[in-house]
Amino acid sequence: MDEDRQTKKDGQGGKDPAIVIRNVHKVFGDQHVLRGINLEVMPGTVTAVLGPSGSGKSTLLRLINQLETRTAGEIYVDGELTGYREIDTGKGPVLETLDDKAIARQRSKIGMVFQRFNLFPHMTALENVMEAPVHVGRVPKSDARKEAQAQLERVGLEDRMDYYPAQLSGGQQQRVAIARALAMHPDIMLFDEPTSALDPELVGEVLGVMRQVAQQGMTMVVVTHEMGFAREVAEQIVFMDQGVVVEQGGPDIIDHPHTERFAGFLHTVL
Ligand code: ADP
Ligand code: MG
Repeated sequence: MDEDRQTKKDGQGGKDPAIVIRNVHKVFGDQHVLRGINLEVMPGTVTAVLGPSGSGKSTLLRLINQLETRTAGEIYVDGELTGYREIDTGKGPVLETLDDKAIARQRSKIGMVFQRFNLFPHMTALENVMEAPVHVGRVPKSDARKEAQAQLERVGLEDRMDYYPAQLSGGQQQRVAIARALAMHPDIMLFDEPTSALDPELVGEVLGVMRQVAQQGMTMVVVTHEMGFAREVAEQIVFMDQGVVVEQGGPDIIDHPHTERFAGFLHTVL
């Protein structure tokens, strides 16, 4: 793309957001869990999502990754509307649900790491990391093995590749889970409380890997209660409560919250 078009496309000559969330709602039965979320995530940045249990943080991540369908609103990933296609009927655009293949293609841009690592217990670390590239990405086994080795080295597990999950600490298992997500070469990584299930002494090694992945330029959205990590690594802080974004800003808002609700929440976690 030449300079002029790039400038036009981006408006200001800057980058387009990697994720745009516009007035998103989610209703489960009679529960209105997300009530109009608006959020932008710039490429190569880290957004930390904070908030009390039940505020809708996991649901938001699951909508971004299309593990759930939204009730209303739009989510764009890399400029592309997720889940739907706009069809121009001549009488204005109509939305049509994407088929499974198109959704799988959109989802392949996003890697996700959960609180529980969900590794396959009967497979070694290496086999766990190779699994999706071979069976989903249709990568030849020898290439997938090389890639998995590289990703396990990246998370500092070069000497644990042939261990089974039960032979690894929780921190090591979570690092395998991160390597497994990275092996699919996502543009965006979502982390849902990746250290909440870990013994305190194992939290640091996982946060260290996440910090390194961030420094390598990954776009990340991280739900976490680790305020030190949020303050030091995230460019954007989002505080959610009861399905809305109550407060949003740079990492300074952790030390200088603008709302009573965020201040109150910080007292419970700091
Ligand atoms: P958080 O991650 O901030 O703790 P969640 O997004 O997990 O919050 O949940 C927000 C609310 O949505 C909770 O009240 C939860 O019970 C409800 N919820 C989440 N997933 C479902 C589901 N699949 N079906 C029904 N209710 C759900
Ligand atoms: Mg959650």
